Amino acid sequence: MGKALIIGCGGVASVAIHKCCQNPDVFEEICIASRTLSKCEALKEKLKDSKTKISTAQVNADNIDELVELINKFKPDVVMHLALPYQDLTIMEACLKTKTNYLDTANYEPLDTAKFEYKWQWAYKEKFEQAGITALLGSGFDPGVTGVFSAYALKHHFDEINQIDILDANAGDHGYPFATNFNPEINIREVTANGSYFENGKFIETEPMSIKRVYNFPQIGEKDIYLLHHEELESLAINIPGIKKMRFWMTFSQNYLNHLKVLENVGMTSIEPIEFEGKQIVPLQFLKAVLPDPASLGPRTKGKTNIGCIFQGIKDGKKKNYYLYNVCVHEECYAEVQSQAISYTTGVPAMIGAMMLITGKWNKPGVHNIEEFDPDPFMDELNRCGLPWHESFDPELVD
Ligand code: NDP
Repeated sequence: MGKALIIGCGGVASVAIHKCCQNPDVFEEICIASRTLSKCEALKEKLKDSKTKISTAQVNADNIDELVELINKFKPDVVMHLALPYQDLTIMEACLKTKTNYLDTANYEPLDTAKFEYKWQWAYKEKFEQAGITALLGSGFDPGVTGVFSAYALKHHFDEINQIDILDANAGDHGYPFATNFNPEINIREVTANGSYFENGKFIETEPMSIKRVYNFPQIGEKDIYLLHHEELESLAINIPGIKKMRFWMTFSQNYLNHLKVLENVGMTSIEPIEFEGKQIVPLQFLKAVLPDPASLGPRTKGKTNIGCIFQGIKDGKKKNYYLYNVCVHEECYAEVQSQAISYTTGVPAMIGAMMLITGKWNKPGVHNIEEFDPDPFMDELNRCGLPWHESFDPELVD
């Protein structure tokens, strides 16, 4: 039916590529393009028996001209940007120049400031509308499925949603004293930043990791959860009418936090370049180089993740609570696509988002966050493609 150009060949991209190949009727042809060509070729070789036709290319996604040349050559229906948030704008520019649909899983973040916001990407709204192409922002799990869950809850269960608590739990154990489950640089930038939550029309900033609760997760049990800022709060605050309060929570073990504190105290998480033996280096990028590669965690990680949203609102004049969540098992993900659950829970929704665009089920020229589309076909595909969802009408609430 269609062609997808996949940019990036890391943990998330690898899962998305496996999943595209499981759906050859939609993904007739894909091109895997990344900085390191050998990784793309190794994956192509691994998937050589797939019905999906696979080609590879080397590309520097910071370079618009290179991207335009590649898109013009391959002529995809959609560009799936699964590299890093720093490349969002160059890839969007290239899509605009070639009138090609765009999808990503993380919003733009300038390399020199750990501040992620949608304003840079939303600034492209009119240009994408005029070009008649769709940019689907945030098609991972969070952001991604959390936005689809919100749209689904609003469509089917509420007249008005007043509060959303997004809960992201990883009870997986990889056996290392310290490692991050996805790109360490992006992950550490996110968790060392100030927290924030939305209340009565504005965002309230908090010190990093200063708000903690304990939550008893279905299928996982009791975990410490910490309030973080997370990018989907910014778009949901606009797209969910009547919303009064929103918080994002993530589980961290005391061991992870102790390691992070020490690394922070000694300056290893800084993104300010320093002079080292006559060379400029960024401490956080050096740290990334010495930490375990997230891709290597797959075979070692055991246990489950549970990510979902608790909604509180009004239906037919009465108060209602509703919890939608997915539980994913690390070992099962590894057995299926040789990745742990963090990459899996992001790569599967990235593939489904591309599927929505290629099949035309989602077609809305402009730049849109995922909750702006009809959630139903996406929710069906989650059940079919390995991320089944569960619901509860009497969930424990976060106080
Ligand atoms: P990885 O670091 O594993 O992979 C990134 C890939 O991008 C690598 O293949 C890398 O190439 C490639 N790359 C980096 N810079 C360039 C460039 N300039 N040109 C071409 N290719 C480049 O990251 P992950 O797979 O863990 O994460 C991918 C994205 O998914 C990130 O944006 C992350 O924030 C997001 N994410 C979103 C989640 C969600 O739920 N929404 C959850 C987890 C992650 P090389 O191999 O040469 O290093």
